[in-house]
Amino acid sequence: MPYHHILVAVDLTEECDPVIHRARELSVSNGAKLSLVHIVEPMAMAFGGDVPMDLSQLQQQQFDQAKERLEKLKSKYTELVGANCHLTYGQPRQEIHHFAKEQACDLIVVGSHGRHGLALLLGSTANDVLHGAPCDVLAVHLVKR
Ligand code: AMP
Repeated sequence: MPYHHILVAVDLTEECDPVIHRARELSVSNGAKLSLVHIVEPMAMAFGGDVPMDLSQLQQQQFDQAKERLEKLKSKYTELVGANCHLTYGQPRQEIHHFAKEQACDLIVVGSHGRHGLALLLGSTANDVLHGAPCDVLAVHLVKR
């Protein structure tokens, strides 16, 4: 059964290159639609939601920076031309699942560092996304540089 709608989740670092390539290959070979998502994590969330200062300006800067990076990515990768690129606030696992469900995606592609030991305990987005995913998940192995 071919995939119909592939969702690639990117962290907008240089590490997202192999993840995008793999998603693109799969979308071409399956004749599937390709969507891309990046989630900007609210700063208050990173600080445990208990910060006695206004983070709205910083938050806006963070969002604008992500937007800029996404635009750069789009001009770098012709494979993203015509793809449905989406930028949103939230918690990556929750938002990726929500988007996949809402857009009826049947495959989510993420990068995976294959963490070991202590780093494994800290968890990874790939692990997070896998649990409770509404569809198949492909973890693209990222080689350490
Ligand atoms: P990490 O475990 O955070 O190193 O990330 C592993 C993979 O999860 C990345 O290669 C992306 O595919 C995905 N990912 C991480 N953070 C985000 C994010 N903020 N938005 C979308 N996808 C993400």
